Amino acid sequence: MRIGYGWDSHEFKLGIPLKIGGVTLEHPQGLGGHSDGDVLLHALTDALLGALAEPDIGTLFPPSDPQWNGADSVVFLREALKRMREKAYGIVNVDATLILAAPKIAPHSPTIRQRIAELLGIPLDCVGLKAKTPEGLGTDNAAIAHAVVLLQKD
Ligand SMILES: [Zn+2]
Repeated sequence: MRIGYGWDSHEFKLGIPLKIGGVTLEHPQGLGGHSDGDVLLHALTDALLGALAEPDIGTLFPPSDPQWNGADSVVFLREALKRMREKAYGIVNVDATLILAAPKIAPHSPTIRQRIAELLGIPLDCVGLKAKTPEGLGTDNAAIAHAVVLLQKD
C-alpha cells in the first residue's frame, strides 16, 4: 500500500468561474492562477503523484506554459490516474479538507463528492470531504485544499 498527500492554494479573483472538485459553483469570484484554479483537483492530483513518487503537478504541467492557461484540471488528474494504472495501483480511498471563507461548501458537498468519485472511478463512500473556514489565518481571499490518498497494488 502507498499513501500520498497533496496541498494547494489559489487566490480569489473577480469575474472568473469558481471550480472546486470539478464542479462549477455559483460565486462572484473564481480562483486564479494555474489552469482553472481547481484547488481541490490540484491537491488530489499531487496526492496521487506523491503516492507514486512521480514528479508533482507543477513539474508535469508548468504554470509558465501558456497551454495550461484556463485548462480543465481534470486533464492533470487523468494523467496522475494513468501513471497510477501503469504502476498497477488502485485507489482505496481519498480524504480532503477545503479551507475557505466563502462560499459555504456544505450545500455543494454531495455534488463535489459524487464528481470526485466519478473522476477517480471509486465508490462514493470512499471519498471524504470536509470544509472549514480559515479562523485566524487571515486567508479569506484564498482557497486552500489538503488531500490524502491511499493506494493498493492491484
Ligand atoms: Zn493549484
